Amino acid sequence: MSDKKTYERPVIVPLNTGLMNKFGTRTEYQPVIDIDGNPVKDLLAKYGSPLFVLSERKIRENVQSAKRIFETRYPKVQFAWSYKTNYINAVCNVFHQEGAWGEVVSRFEYDKAIKNGVPADKILFNGPDKSREDLELAVKGNSPIHIDHLDELYLLTEIATEQNVKPRVAIRVNMDTGIYPMWDRFGFNYENGQAWNAINKIIATDKLNLIGLHCHIGTFMLSAEAYGVAASKLAELAISIKKHHGKSITYIDLGGGFASTNTLKGSYGIGADAIPSMSQYAESITTALLNAGFDNDDLPWLYLETGRALIDDAGFLLGTVLSNKRLSDGRRATILDFGLNLMFTSFWYDHKISPAQPFGSHTEDCVLYGPLCMNIDIVRQHITLPPLNPGDHVVAHHMGAYNITQSMQFISLRPAIVMIDMDGKPHIIRKKEMLSTLEKDEVMPEYLDTFNL
Ligand SMILES: *Cc1c(COP(=O)(O)O)cnc(C)c1O
Repeated sequence: MSDKKTYERPVIVPLNTGLMNKFGTRTEYQPVIDIDGNPVKDLLAKYGSPLFVLSERKIRENVQSAKRIFETRYPKVQFAWSYKTNYINAVCNVFHQEGAWGEVVSRFEYDKAIKNGVPADKILFNGPDKSREDLELAVKGNSPIHIDHLDELYLLTEIATEQNVKPRVAIRVNMDTGIYPMWDRFGFNYENGQAWNAINKIIATDKLNLIGLHCHIGTFMLSAEAYGVAASKLAELAISIKKHHGKSITYIDLGGGFASTNTLKGSYGIGADAIPSMSQYAESITTALLNAGFDNDDLPWLYLETGRALIDDAGFLLGTVLSNKRLSDGRRATILDFGLNLMFTSFWYDHKISPAQPFGSHTEDCVLYGPLCMNIDIVRQHITLPPLNPGDHVVAHHMGAYNITQSMQFISLRPAIVMIDMDGKPHIIRKKEMLSTLEKDEVMPEYLDTFNL
């Protein structure tokens, strides 16, 4: 940094009173100089900018704490890591080392879990898109298959007959939990009897072994009570199955969807103040299960496919300021080297962004843009930050869930991903992409190989 202060032409800035809430202007601009002891500027110098960073310590703390919270309230709890939330193998293996099984929603995720060493019978296979081939593989592996619709049920029945085996299945149930819009596109509806109908079909046909009941009521659920309602409804189904068919259900799977500490756009307070705690979710679910009327020796396992709540705050995106400009209304605009291409979730979250170096006391409302040549590439529409200069670094928080799996190579290549281990040592867990990464699978037909300009 040079000693000479940068000159900036004075401008008249309109007051934007709408930015205040009753607590005053948000003070989210504390500098974040390091991640788990690694200076941001050293990480960027070594691995390039931008850079995804994951804290192994934070992930393990999150899983261990969630397990403790559920296991102190209910005797039979099993977590399964939701691959689509973040399926970098090193990340998955941290969860598997902590005892989590795998939860997948596609064939390639299934293959990833197998390659990571998860036993096939500990991979829960979800989602509406399972081909005959996928199902055959999952049946061979004895994986619990969560049936989404009747066509899948019939196909699976056919495969079971051909292979002369009894696949282990659950049905996905959707229901009214008081949260709208209702997610009724996945699975069988509870209220209109579809779920009970599917259960009766499975049991009467006797080709499939119904071991579980599954639901995933939505994402970023701000109501813990909704999970209590869901747990009660699934428990009620399980008890009816016992009563009418004499069959015990091995597990009730409440899916994922617990909110992370991220801040939803338009919310009044910051995320951490607005969302239910893990204990509230746990209390709501376990109370419902314990009071449902199961015999004590017949209590089902509680499976949880918690994704975002266990990893969002363990992920960061580090980047660099490219330039500043004044918009036509006088507002300050700062352009960063990452945008929607790496933070898809900025569509619905106001991600917390911190400068990565010390700064003075002056702050200003500004808009943060990404580097893409696209009008929608906005990281934050309104944020109060100290003026940042080209070359300064920033840290985007709550980046662990979905941003890596949903990142795209649109306009720029995807950066490296680093995990900081328990001793504070960084490890590359996915290399930075090169042009060759992108072109590896492209094919040039011979007649298009040359041209004259
Ligand atoms: C996406 C998904 C999850 C994980 O959801 P989070 O909101 O990340 O907790 C779990 N189960 C199913 C079936 C899913 O589709």
